[in-house]
Amino acid sequence: MLDEDEIIRVEGVSKRFSCRGRGPFCPRRSLVACNDVSLALRKGETLGVAGESGCGKSTLAKMLLSMEAPTEGRILYRGRDLVGMSRGDRRRNCKNIQMVFQDSLLSFHPRKKVVDIVTEPLMNLGLIDKRDKDLRALELLDMVELPVDVLYRYPHSMSGGQIQRVGIARALSVEPEVLVCDESTSALDVSVQRNVAELLVRLQRERGTTMMFICHDVALINAIAHRLAVMYLGHIVEVTPTSMDIDKKVRHPYTKALLGSIFSVRMDFSRRIKAIESEAPSAADVPPGCPFQDRCDVVMDICKREKPTLLPLKGEADHLVACHLFGSEAAI
Ligand code: SF4
Repeated sequence: MLDEDEIIRVEGVSKRFSCRGRGPFCPRRSLVACNDVSLALRKGETLGVAGESGCGKSTLAKMLLSMEAPTEGRILYRGRDLVGMSRGDRRRNCKNIQMVFQDSLLSFHPRKKVVDIVTEPLMNLGLIDKRDKDLRALELLDMVELPVDVLYRYPHSMSGGQIQRVGIARALSVEPEVLVCDESTSALDVSVQRNVAELLVRLQRERGTTMMFICHDVALINAIAHRLAVMYLGHIVEVTPTSMDIDKKVRHPYTKALLGSIFSVRMDFSRRIKAIESEAPSAADVPPGCPFQDRCDVVMDICKREKPTLLPLKGEADHLVACHLFGSEAAI
């Protein structure tokens, strides 16, 4: 049963890519980018997804956009399985779920001007007449706080922040119900990043858009999202509401380490920074049991044998953790 508040439900989704080796030292095997991922996106919320590079965040985003098909599992949009949709239905459905990329410039046609870029989805879906393009483009530029004079400019002559605003205007032009931002602020300077993040928050609130905000910066996610989902080696290891004291509330050792790695201007360098010392293993070589076992400083025997299940903590239905430390505490 789909909860009425749920716009998207990801159910047991895995995505494997095959790695074909050439010689005897690299046998054919598969890389698991997403491993039995289950998540829900609720109407009007911002769900932040955090994790290190290569943890499967972007693959998850691509599957929501139907740019990749899951190997297993289902992705439901308002109860309809995206995987089983016909090509025509998928094309019509792209109006409902749009994406802002990390480097929007790469997703723009280099010979197109801003006016054509921001109205491209509207034209492709036949939602506006060619004569109305300029007027609609001006409204979209106003929405993302860009000046009128960029209308006939080429994006490669614009700054990084302006380019991302063009990307946001294009994604929101068709008024999608869901906006997926895949590291959309990560490549920007810090001051510009803040402005673009504030713009996204304002637009999300004003329009009631449901947003998935993918970012490796947990502090930024905590500032702008309603809930935080943490991914590690293709697994969701913790989902929790965000809060001012999130560092005290998170329970999974990996989430704690992620939050412990954040630098602050009032940092006390005489205290040891609780960062993760080693690197994550390859997604083609995930150990049996808990995926975090090789880096966890409280690893137990059971962690090497059994993979922990993502379960709600006792008395905290909205706080889910996949860790054997809380196995007996989980309320089902
Ligand atoms: Fe650490 Fe075990 Fe929990 Fe994994 S399941 S995070 S190895 S304690």
